Amino acid sequence: MKQARTDFHVHPGYSIDAAPVSIRDYCLRALELKLDEICFTTHIELDPARREIDNFVFFRGQRISIFNRAWLEGYFEELEGARQEFRQAGLKVKAGIEVGYCRGCEKFVEKITTEYPFDFVLGAIHCLDHIAIASLTESPRYFHQKSLAQLRHEYFSLLRELVAAGLFDCLAHVDIYLRYGFKHYGPAILSLHRGAIEPILAEMARRRMGLEINTSSRCRGLAEFHPTREILQLAAEAGVSIFTVGSDAHSLEQLGDGIDEALALLGELNLRNHIFTRRQAVPC
Ligand SMILES: [Zn+2]
Ligand SMILES: [Zn+2]
Repeated sequence: MKQARTDFHVHPGYSIDAAPVSIRDYCLRALELKLDEICFTTHIELDPARREIDNFVFFRGQRISIFNRAWLEGYFEELEGARQEFRQAGLKVKAGIEVGYCRGCEKFVEKITTEYPFDFVLGAIHCLDHIAIASLTESPRYFHQKSLAQLRHEYFSLLRELVAAGLFDCLAHVDIYLRYGFKHYGPAILSLHRGAIEPILAEMARRRMGLEINTSSRCRGLAEFHPTREILQLAAEAGVSIFTVGSDAHSLEQLGDGIDEALALLGELNLRNHIFTRRQAVPC
């Protein structure tokens, strides 16, 4: 069965680690790539211990606090403009956000996702022990001081809490620790999830929470997408039935990367790609 070509994980220039590319330029590129739908997922980190490091977004040429609502007003205005401009061309434009989960962020996430008409709220873990394990420059500081057992305990404990928070439509790059951890710990890290992830996947299924296939692993030298095929199969066995695909593009060239292969993988496993509209999943 042919599945819609979607990219549900895209970082326009609001994200502080993304290239300064506008929503409109991503939409133009999406048309060239013949995508049916694009969802922008500006990234916010909320850990107060990292307030001076990454609790920011770029807005109108300035770095402003994510707690300053001006950027959200501007973000939704820009998204609405793109929605109208590209409607006739057949490209659907969705409003999303990627929240870097940390303990204590729940109130703020609940507030903005109630007050603003998001289509898609993506939950992610980027930091453990206040260190960005998803960052090339910061992650060695974490990996050097933690054993694999510690990583396993800290990552999956936090993941369990993320899912239980009930605030997220979908979980991004569930095995993100492989991104830079594989080089540090070696192949043993590939089985880190075994025995820890199954109950979390079961809880996701119970909550009808989605799981993302994130293709950005490829440009970082990993053999598989996030998650690995093994985890994807475990998710299906646990009853997870909602899947999205996303390139995690931080620049125009990365948009749509690996999407067709990710869709083929879903098809092979008899799983369906989904889109989200106002936080409701629909198979596509
Ligand atoms: Zn992420
Ligand atoms: Zn991302």
